[in-house]
Amino acid sequence: MDDRKKQREKKRRIANLQALLIVLLFSTIALLLIAVVMKGGVKDSPVVSKNTEEVVDVNVTTEGSRIEAEPIVAAKDVFPELDIKEQYITPNRYSRPQIELKKVTHIVVHYTGNPGTSAKANASYFDGLKEQENQNKKSPIFASSHFVIGLKGEIIQCIPLNEQSYASNHMNSCSISIEMCHPDDTGAFENETYNSAVFLIAKLCNYYNIPTDNVVRHYDVTGKLCPKYFVDNPESFKGFKEWIDKWRKKYATEK
Ligand SMILES: [Zn+2]
Repeated sequence: MDDRKKQREKKRRIANLQALLIVLLFSTIALLLIAVVMKGGVKDSPVVSKNTEEVVDVNVTTEGSRIEAEPIVAAKDVFPELDIKEQYITPNRYSRPQIELKKVTHIVVHYTGNPGTSAKANASYFDGLKEQENQNKKSPIFASSHFVIGLKGEIIQCIPLNEQSYASNHMNSCSISIEMCHPDDTGAFENETYNSAVFLIAKLCNYYNIPTDNVVRHYDVTGKLCPKYFVDNPESFKGFKEWIDKWRKKYATEK
């Protein structure tokens, strides 16, 4: 009887040991997994939902044909007399979807809403939106602009003229967008920024043969407070367009 009891006891101990080992094994695996996830080593895929609702929310254009990055239409070639730098956004679905811009009927003016930031920094921001591909965001940001004009009047082109930008909602498919930098919260522009915008927009209006009245604020498209200074001071926007008109005439007679 004792032997059988001893054997049973032995079996029970082995079973307990096995159970303990299994628990230890699973705990180790769980701990390892937690460590890997916390380190960000696990990349979920697919990372972004294919649902287009979020796209519709921000009025991102999906119509139109996707075009190749080359040949691009560079503003510095079209307007060699303006000092236009290039900082093209890497093609990506958040800021440079490479959708063909077939016709241009409007120029839409914006302000960055980022006081004191440079044109270069804003162009880099648009480019950086491509990183959202790996961030699994619920509401990704879709944004870009054809041009950003800096605090010293420097002009940076971010999107080729034959591609749509993500700036002006339902007008993306028929407009060129201009972002203007500003030094403070009032949204007022430095003279250099203002002047470069006048020169560039005058050139664009003549090039596309569109009336100066089709130079509009983002506000006129969606009611958004953008560009703030031109919304707060409508007279100032009128004056801005009068300057554009004057330079259009000047450029036209120069040809
Ligand atoms: Zn805007």
